[in-house]
Amino acid sequence: MEIVPGIHKIDATLGVNCYLISTEIGWLIVDTGLPGQEKKILHNLQKLDIKPSSVAFIVLTHADLDHIGCARALKKATGGKIAIHPSDVPVLTGKQPFKTINNFVKPAVKLMFYLLRYQPVEPDILLEDGIKLSGWQVLHTPGHTPGSVCLFQPGKSIVVGDALRTSWQGHPRPISRRICLDLAQARQSLINIAALNYEVLLPGHGAPLVNEASLIIRSMVKRVTAKPLSTRKILGIY
Ligand SMILES: [Zn+2]
Repeated sequence: MEIVPGIHKIDATLGVNCYLISTEIGWLIVDTGLPGQEKKILHNLQKLDIKPSSVAFIVLTHADLDHIGCARALKKATGGKIAIHPSDVPVLTGKQPFKTINNFVKPAVKLMFYLLRYQPVEPDILLEDGIKLSGWQVLHTPGHTPGSVCLFQPGKSIVVGDALRTSWQGHPRPISRRICLDLAQARQSLINIAALNYEVLLPGHGAPLVNEASLIIRSMVKRVTAKPLSTRKILGIY
């Protein structure tokens, strides 16, 4: 589904949004879904008449299983270079476990994640804060994981991964505190995202916002950061 010209949300990736973004040097695949979704993603490329070899980068907003599950398979199928922040590399390469999984409350979710066999992969490009990748600025927005990043085009669009989420009606909210590895960092990242200007916001979960997104995010962040962190912890939000 085309969100705005040059940015598509890949159809049918279970539970997570993966995006295809057109850039001057080729296509970016942003996030890859749970293990086993690669055929669906490659089918989406085919439907859009995109040659696998024209994928320049496979950008991972952070190393959670639902975002990196097909990274290795897609690298093999397209030749795209894997890009991720250095702090999430140990999980990507299988040297550290998926820490956020342990924080899930529902045992069924935990079990599903353990049963899906993750194939580790090495990164090709490290997404340090402030670098540019195919015209998109990399912003380090830790909290949910230590190496969470956003991709940003000033005044235009931001890809936020799981720094925040939206409902399917397009209402934004912070990511659940249960799956934030560092709440204080997550709050600061939200404040940083709210200070930027963009029309379009592309979340890892929920509906993309396509009009005046920064105004909508600013009012949500103002509301949830109005109380001290400790109170918000008790309330179950931050
Ligand atoms: Zn996610």
